[in-house]
Amino acid sequence: MPELPEVEAVVRTLRPLVQGQRIRCVHVFHPIATKPQTASRVAALATGRSIHSVDRKGKYVLLVLDRGLLTLHFRLDGQLVWFSSAAELLERANAKENGVHVDVAFELGNGVLGFADRRHFGRVHAWDRVEDSPGLASLGLDACSKEFTPTRFRELLVPSVRPLKDFLLEQTRVAGLGNIYSCESLWHARLDPRRRAKSLKAEEARRLHKAIVSVLARALECCLNPAPDFCDSRWWFQGLEKILRAYGREGEPCRRCGAKIQRIEQGGRSTYWCRRCQR
Ligand SMILES: [Zn+2]
Repeated sequence: MPELPEVEAVVRTLRPLVQGQRIRCVHVFHPIATKPQTASRVAALATGRSIHSVDRKGKYVLLVLDRGLLTLHFRLDGQLVWFSSAAELLERANAKENGVHVDVAFELGNGVLGFADRRHFGRVHAWDRVEDSPGLASLGLDACSKEFTPTRFRELLVPSVRPLKDFLLEQTRVAGLGNIYSCESLWHARLDPRRRAKSLKAEEARRLHKAIVSVLARALECCLNPAPDFCDSRWWFQGLEKILRAYGREGEPCRRCGAKIQRIEQGGRSTYWCRRCQR
């Protein structure tokens, strides 16, 4: 699942491409992508509007319009696809041979922005105001925002009895981390993912905060080199293995102490960690 750095890289690349463009027309090929909203609701809100800005909150992409906004969420492996013209879209989208899967497409003045998710978990929604989106409203502090300070982080940890790994995955406290970067942050902070959030001493909380900030910064750097081109559907997580220290490394030696990296289940998700040096 794309996490904060992947989504941020998408937003930075998308911004110069679509900002200021008017949405001429909306095509909804697979209405499941707008559920529980109707395709006509999304089309009615977006058609004729201009894209004022492109922002990110947690793992959401926000297309802020001159009136209302669109939110895009990639879930497991949603994608953005760029077409040079409406003619190219209509020729290639969902065509039987050499087709490109597209769920929703926004025709702009300079090309067409497509949203695609073959597995149909990803979503495109339209809202009159930011406050109307329950997903956005429930988000906690964005892990890349300036408000995400060691002090605020500690305040969020203290009342929580959840295991650290689950705490980091809850988007309602700290927004943006998924399975990969929560495992990586805990490895860098040398903390046992099973420990309860409230059990962290002040120094440990500072260490975890620092680890989160640096893991996300390094991952963003990786995601911007190469930046997404909205053509190659395999762009997600390309080259990431170079920076991973725990995630996906079950049975391989810990880069810090040499013990084998282990995999355990937490909340139905895999956690990768080093039992020897994460305490
Ligand atoms: Zn280790």
